[in-house]
Amino acid sequence: MKQVYEFREGGKDLIPLLGGKGGNLAEMTKIGLAIPNGIIVTTDACREYFRNGKKISEELRNEILEKLETIQKKPLLVSVRSGAPISMPGMMDTILNVGFNDAVAEEVLASIKDETFVYSSYARFISMFSEIVQGVEKKKFDKIAEETKNPKDLIPLYKALYEKETGEKFPEEVKEQILMAVNSIFNSWNNERAILYRKLNNIDDNMGTAVVVQEMVFGNFNNKSGTGVVFSRNPSTGEKQIFGEYLICAQGEDIVAGIRTPEPIAKLQEEMPKVYEELLENIHKLEQHNKDMQDIEFTIQDEKLYILQTRNGKRAPKAAVKIAIDMQEEGIISKEEAVLRVDPSLVNQLLNGDFEEKAVKEATLLGKGLAASSGVAVGRVMFDSKRVKIREKTILVREETSPEDLKGIALAQGILTVKGGATSHGAVVARGMGKCCITGCGAIKINEIDREMYIGGRTVKEGEFISISGYTGEIYLGKVAIKEASYDDDLKKILSWAYEIKRLQVRMNADTPEDVKMGKDFGAEGIGLCRTEHMFFQKDKIWAIRQVILGEEGEEKNKAIEKLFELQKEDFMGIFKNLNGDVANIRLLDPPVHEFLPKEKADKIIMAKNLGIHLYDLEIRIRKLKDENPMLGHRGCRLGVSYPRLYKAQGRAIIEAALDCRKEGHPVHPEIMIPFTMEAKELAYLRKEITEEIECLFEERQERLDYKLGTMIEIPRACLLANEIAEVADFFSFGTNDLTQMSMGLSRDDSVKFLDQYREKGIWEGEPFYSIDQKAVGKLVEYGTRLGREANKNLTVGICGEHGGDPKSIEFFERQGFDYISCSPFRVPSAILAAAQSYL
Ligand code: PEP
Ligand code: MG
Repeated sequence: MKQVYEFREGGKDLIPLLGGKGGNLAEMTKIGLAIPNGIIVTTDACREYFRNGKKISEELRNEILEKLETIQKKPLLVSVRSGAPISMPGMMDTILNVGFNDAVAEEVLASIKDETFVYSSYARFISMFSEIVQGVEKKKFDKIAEETKNPKDLIPLYKALYEKETGEKFPEEVKEQILMAVNSIFNSWNNERAILYRKLNNIDDNMGTAVVVQEMVFGNFNNKSGTGVVFSRNPSTGEKQIFGEYLICAQGEDIVAGIRTPEPIAKLQEEMPKVYEELLENIHKLEQHNKDMQDIEFTIQDEKLYILQTRNGKRAPKAAVKIAIDMQEEGIISKEEAVLRVDPSLVNQLLNGDFEEKAVKEATLLGKGLAASSGVAVGRVMFDSKRVKIREKTILVREETSPEDLKGIALAQGILTVKGGATSHGAVVARGMGKCCITGCGAIKINEIDREMYIGGRTVKEGEFISISGYTGEIYLGKVAIKEASYDDDLKKILSWAYEIKRLQVRMNADTPEDVKMGKDFGAEGIGLCRTEHMFFQKDKIWAIRQVILGEEGEEKNKAIEKLFELQKEDFMGIFKNLNGDVANIRLLDPPVHEFLPKEKADKIIMAKNLGIHLYDLEIRIRKLKDENPMLGHRGCRLGVSYPRLYKAQGRAIIEAALDCRKEGHPVHPEIMIPFTMEAKELAYLRKEITEEIECLFEERQERLDYKLGTMIEIPRACLLANEIAEVADFFSFGTNDLTQMSMGLSRDDSVKFLDQYREKGIWEGEPFYSIDQKAVGKLVEYGTRLGREANKNLTVGICGEHGGDPKSIEFFERQGFDYISCSPFRVPSAILAAAQSYL
């Protein structure tokens, strides 16, 4: 098995083997760009290394040494870099200037004649190598450097430190240095932050990293040298204009670390116009070749440009949409590819909008930094990543971020750093996560000890609220109100393409005419779930339903029921009108009755008075209604079986509202949905009762209307007997919230308390109420769908649990051939996009 490739032997198609960096370098060599020469040790070799008990085999050693001969340059100075098939920026290690020893330093000095440059490069190599390969703390080297003026004097001191810390002599032989470096890069695949990054990004732990060994070019060679990072388009806004920064007389790490503040790329045009022109040409070539926005690292050595690396650039949600559209319109990619380019979860963030203009005007501006990743965030200031907690609104404020801050960044609402440019670590990671981020706000002074910061003449303590804007870089004191949904033309365009492409119908879970309006604006195709009980939580209606629940059996209860649904009919009419002919799936009462019962003494007194009974009698009635386990108690269609009048009257209200709307000229398509079915006979009984009531209505009004009557499938038994249930249902709507709860025996409301521990201990990954557990709950869904469809060829199948808005689950429902998915109005745009992507 070939384990080492020369650049000229590879290409992008070999990325799984050569890693992203290696594959792209090989590809760039192929298209004739100025790439320093090198070799790539494959991911296969990395996997073999771990299988081999973390040892480089004799075979691999020989192959590396043999291929190194193809790098002709003498003396041989190389960088040794990690490069996984999927980009994991900053998570693994890199060692620069490998190859130095005393003789090499003298040799280099003979041609470069700059002692400071040569010996600082040499010293830098020793400290980097020692830190990464042997784990010697960098600060020990820094301390020596502080006390030593002449870089040449550092060399013996650094080597002595190495020897003291490791008990070994510093390796002088270049080949040995390279092999040790390769060894440690392999190991960095399994460092803590790389493992966490993979977990957060669902990257396979078994993939392994490739290692790129490449000739060094020196950005710190002289004042006509430098290093930079440039994006082929603006990664925050998407504008077609290069965006980036560079540092004169510096090496790559200086930019990424954000320690020195770099110059904007436009300045390079003044400083080195020829190099700038060549850079532009290279950027254009790379973008056209890779058909995506590129994030390019370059180095200039003595006015000669070298491209070191390119990859598809991470971008803010807004930029992702704009770039996809522009590239389609420029003829670089197709509509389908453009749709695939936008991550559906980022659409939600786009819809997060901006601060309210009025609130911004009134807010206290504390300071301004670099707008590094768009969006806005409001949260409590936290200076330590470890103290950022899940589900707490936090703004992580750091001097500069490092990969150790990853968990904090993932949990925080927004990131604010004192140092660093727009391509520093914090900025890149935040943008990738679609998180608001401000960098380089030098006006902040952090006092770690007292846990406070000083900015804009004020002291802000840890825990106090601030608001930050990733659009303007502005930082405000306190909470600034956020404006809802900014739904711009670019987003509408990409969604309209997704809409044309998708197969699944995307409906909304909407309970009010206002929800319907919003959902329709977002592109929803009707209602997949209207939870009618939600209508009763509005003030005036809660008493009406209490009257129904607590009223005396018989005439009194029936009267209360008629009154209740008379009230609800108005809501239904509002919904039908706003739907304008789209389907309305309306679910009959579902929740456990206790949710509606009066709890406060004052409410109980009113209720007793309304019913004309003593408070004591009311308490008895309430106690009788109490379920020990309400989620599995007297709810859903069980209420309908106990009180058929309830479901009959509600069914009548729906159809009456539909008839009235139709009379006013609005087309209507009602669907009546029975919740919580566990048995076909249960549904058959209710179907008969409701149908009889509706037939009476048709008789009274001397007109008819088409409607469907079906059920939710949310109890495991219903999935297993779906064939029987399908015989009496026009449609199935999977209620995956309850189905997950009951299949996994996990409470919808309480499982957050312990699932974190499950995740920490590696027992469980993900959040089953967010993304469907395809392994088991999914199996029930699949089985139920198949049985249902076999028994009833006309059965419509959809989903209305929370999973209906989750892109990963949507892909699963597409695979099951569902007719529709349904989610909250706000999630409809991302669901449309996910539906299109799942179909492609
Ligand atoms: C479900 O259980 O998935 C569902 C949609 O119903 P609810 O959330 O109202 O129980
Ligand atoms: Mg349910």
